[in-house]
Amino acid sequence: MCRVGSIPLHMDTERQTLSCEEARAKIPQHVQGGLEGEEARSLRAHFEGCVDCAESYREQVEAKVDLGLHAMQEVEAAETRRKVERVRTSREMSAPERVLKIRTLILPLFFAWLLVQISGVFAQAPRIVLLEAEGAVDVAGRPVEAYEELGEDDALLLVRGAWCQVADGGRAVFEVPGGRFSLTGPAAVLAEGVEPPRLRVQYGTLALQVDGPLELVTQRGSLEVTEGSGTIVAGPEVLEVSWARGDGRIIDARGETSLEPDTVTRR
Ligand SMILES: [Zn+2]
Repeated sequence: MCRVGSIPLHMDTERQTLSCEEARAKIPQHVQGGLEGEEARSLRAHFEGCVDCAESYREQVEAKVDLGLHAMQEVEAAETRRKVERVRTSREMSAPERVLKIRTLILPLFFAWLLVQISGVFAQAPRIVLLEAEGAVDVAGRPVEAYEELGEDDALLLVRGAWCQVADGGRAVFEVPGGRFSLTGPAAVLAEGVEPPRLRVQYGTLALQVDGPLELVTQRGSLEVTEGSGTIVAGPEVLEVSWARGDGRIIDARGETSLEPDTVTRR
């Protein structure tokens, strides 16, 4: 016989003082673990001497264990049901949830695509790029050397609104859409536009060679070039255009004057 819970500690006299009726009354409380000390010991002592009460106790303990196991199984079953429910919910997602899920995937892809498009447009966008610099050349208020130190000189741009200043004896060559121009110092030029290139020449000597339109604004008049090449010396008191070839005109207080190849025009 399996004597569950019968651990005789004291074979004292109380084993005889507990009747079966008293013992049976105390068993349920003992099963719940509610008996302590002398009370528990006397009950255990009774089980030592009474097989029937011991058996009753064992049955009740087993019933309690069964109940506990059943409860555990219930909890596990409920948890399993919840897991199954979660899986099914994610599989059988409702339409709005599915759209939301797709949007969370599509949106980053869309922005990645947009970024590629923007960078592609930027790479193809018309730019005024510094090709060469000799002597002291400032672009947008910084010496070219500073850009080189920063590793930003790969495509040093004269962006719209930026000045390029070339000190006496210096030289800077820029690429523009459809051609190029060089500045010989002392010179100060502001990029007013890029497509078509529009340059405000404060002062300096500018040599250009372009296949497309280019506009120069000087203190003594504007130069509109359709295409061609020539050298322009500009300052507060001078505008001298040595035109080599192509089509262009000077617009000033006197009106419009066409530039003829191999001529020098002074204003
Ligand atoms: Zn008994």
